Amino acid sequence: GVPEVPARTLAPRRQSRRIQVGPVAVGGGAPVSVQSMTTTRTSDIGATLQQIAELTASGCQIVRVACPTQDDADALAVIARKSQIPVIADIHFQPKYVFAAIEAGCAAVRVNPGNIKKFDDQVGQIARAAKDHGTPVRIGVNAGSLDRRLLKKYGRATPEALVESALWEASLFEEHDFRDIKISVKHNDPVVMIEAYRQLAEQCDYPLHLGVTEAGPAFQGTIKSAVAFGALLAEGIGDTIRVSLSAPPAEEVKVGIQILESLNLRQRRLEIVSCPSCGRAQVDVYRLADEVTVGLDGLEVPLRVAVMGCVVNGPGEAREADLGVASGNGKGQIFVKGEVVRTVPESKIVETLIEEAQRLAEQMK
Ligand code: SF4
Repeated sequence: GVPEVPARTLAPRRQSRRIQVGPVAVGGGAPVSVQSMTTTRTSDIGATLQQIAELTASGCQIVRVACPTQDDADALAVIARKSQIPVIADIHFQPKYVFAAIEAGCAAVRVNPGNIKKFDDQVGQIARAAKDHGTPVRIGVNAGSLDRRLLKKYGRATPEALVESALWEASLFEEHDFRDIKISVKHNDPVVMIEAYRQLAEQCDYPLHLGVTEAGPAFQGTIKSAVAFGALLAEGIGDTIRVSLSAPPAEEVKVGIQILESLNLRQRRLEIVSCPSCGRAQVDVYRLADEVTVGLDGLEVPLRVAVMGCVVNGPGEAREADLGVASGNGKGQIFVKGEVVRTVPESKIVETLIEEAQRLAEQMK
């Protein structure tokens, strides 16, 4: 057959070190992974595992769980063992939970060594424990919790302040010869966030975890994340992403996957190409596109399906797609792989497209 042309991307990926979050490689040219965070109480093992199962089903590759109490720390071993995807324990301030998470077999720990008291060499002990267990660490700098010293120096959470904070945190581990690290520098303003990651990308070779903090409710958060991640990923920056939405975490995963697919950083699955409709439309394009989207939900194959309202661009787009309809005069011309295979009345367009899509999907298996 014809050799497949690799999908075009906008820039080569930034060269970063590779770390291993359980079975998922992050950095060093590994595919950009999508992660999310549970919203359950981690100590509620049943509910947390249930949510992790839902996240796994939605395509999430790495999951983070908060660990603010001893009960949460006690739950980590079971969760890490039973989760289908690698679990990262998210810990602030409490070194004893870091040790617990490493012992529990978590795939990684998120902790900022700068928060940990330096007496007793606890940072060194964490570095040793992490090294012994092969557990990488994410250093996560957030505008909202920036070191007071840096706030004073820069006046506010500027990109420079975020980067200086992150590199200082990393240096606390480097002193102990520990470099199994990935870094995030999050801010709620995509402009500051993009600039911070650009600078960080220049100044180190650690893999980077992209995130916009407090991105907001689903609509706003989706757009902010798409813009911010899009700008960075288009420059090759970013090794793993987490979309933060004030919405169920599976929604974050869907958005993350769609961002990667849009930039050809992941093979596109089902894609509906539909026109916005206009005064020329001869069918109800919105309804058709919605019904086709719902009807094809769950079809895990890279199909492009075009739903077009009239004969202006309809035949062209429908021909380019794997499958499509160009509508006119209350009828739809159904295209499969560039050829018109049938003409059906408007009322049959959706069912015909779904039927043909399923047939194509069968052939692709
Ligand atoms: Fe308008 Fe036809 Fe283009 Fe759809 S395909 S936007 S109906 S001109």
